[in-house]
Amino acid sequence: MDYDVIVVGARCAGSPTAMLFARLGYRVLLLERSAFPSDKISTLYIQQPGVARLKRWGVLDAVVATGCPELDHVVYELDEVRVEGCAAAVDGVSSAYAPRRHLLDQILAEAAVAAGAELQERCAVTGLLRGGDRVTGVRYTLPSGKEATARAWLVVGADGMRSTVATLVDAPKTVEHPRLTCAYYTFWHGLKTYFELYEGDEGWVSAVPTNDAVLVSAYFTQDRFDEVRGDAQGAYLRSVEVNAPALFAQMRAGEQVERLRGTGDQQNFFRQAAGPGWALVGDAGHHKDSITARGIGDAFLQADLLTGHVGDRLGDEEHLAQALASYAEERDRLLTDSYRATLLVAQADARPQRKALLRAVSTSPDLTQRYFDTVAGVRPVSELYTPELRALLSPAAESTPSR
Ligand SMILES: Cc1cc2nc3c(=O)[nH]c(=O)nc-3n(C[C@H](O)[C@H](O)[C@H](O)COP(=O)(O)OP(=O)(O)OC[C@H]3O[C@@H](n4cnc5c(N)ncnc54)[C@H](O)[C@@H]3O)c2cc1C
Repeated sequence: MDYDVIVVGARCAGSPTAMLFARLGYRVLLLERSAFPSDKISTLYIQQPGVARLKRWGVLDAVVATGCPELDHVVYELDEVRVEGCAAAVDGVSSAYAPRRHLLDQILAEAAVAAGAELQERCAVTGLLRGGDRVTGVRYTLPSGKEATARAWLVVGADGMRSTVATLVDAPKTVEHPRLTCAYYTFWHGLKTYFELYEGDEGWVSAVPTNDAVLVSAYFTQDRFDEVRGDAQGAYLRSVEVNAPALFAQMRAGEQVERLRGTGDQQNFFRQAAGPGWALVGDAGHHKDSITARGIGDAFLQADLLTGHVGDRLGDEEHLAQALASYAEERDRLLTDSYRATLLVAQADARPQRKALLRAVSTSPDLTQRYFDTVAGVRPVSELYTPELRALLSPAAESTPSR
């Protein structure tokens, strides 16, 4: 074997996976199709559990040093109902952050290199090597256009929602739901906001203070995607005007500093997480609508889970097979709750339920705290539904989407 582990894709899932494997003493090759610094479509928000992982890994200081502000106050308004607060601290981390992705992703890649991983940029994996019934390596193109191969005990696909590795191993989707939203966002100067969320007749709007600007996004139901993309800028502005008039007034006095970006491809699925000689982390293995801002933290969690399960016995085939199976089981167990909650948040016709929930939550400081903790992933959804909340809720608010 040329390496112990080959990781394909070097952003939120791949770089931490490569870093943690390298810290375990393994020879790690990290292949990335693009080159850093480079951007990635995202509304940037990292919830407290994700920030806590950055701290534990020793990279939070570098992220904070980029100048992204601490986000320790959240406002959520749905029609006339409003709650304000912040999730509880995780391992002493009480703030969320929303660093620009061209900064965050470079810091993560540099952390992997500092741990000993070999990063090769502008290298795209195009095929897999196989030996017997297992994956044994990758075939990839070099920046020169020439082809190369590398062999390893484990190939990790961290190559995003449209993962090449997942396609090559034919990893089936084990859970799948239709797309629910489409999203557009851009950056503004001259706005003063908290992390703010608004929901109303024109969908969802959020304001996210980042390094040098405030990111304002508008989410629409998926059935409007064709209509919205016909005039995305107009639909975006109309949505903020209707759902968040005070934010819109600030935008009129401020300045849009970048072009609008967006996507309608907000897939919802779990893929088989691992097989003989391969594993998937991040969006490659599990993707959900970005409306609940969980993708980055989920990617960090999966990096921790995979490297934790594999541990220091990568070369032991029997142990590796067991470790990959337990990684797959734990990934699904830990991420199913937030997947279901995301489907509920992203369903337009569940708005009355969300409103009933928010109204009930707004009547009690304890429930408000539990609500923000649940949204951030600091505590499980089950701990939100206390007897007090159940008593306050109409039956409709308690139903959850079926798998
Ligand atoms: C509109 C939108 C808003 C979002 N907002 C948030 C948010 O506020 N908070 C949050 O937590 N999450 C958010 N997300 C989700 C988050 O961006 C993703 O979950 C996260 O980027 C996943 O990271 P990843 O490393 O798994 O995949 P990616 O970020 O997609 O990285 C995959 C990498 O693999 C590389 N790659 C692909 N194929 C190959 C190949 N064949 N060979 C080599 N390299 C390859 C790509 O170049 C890429 O760099 C948002 C997503 C969208 C679409």
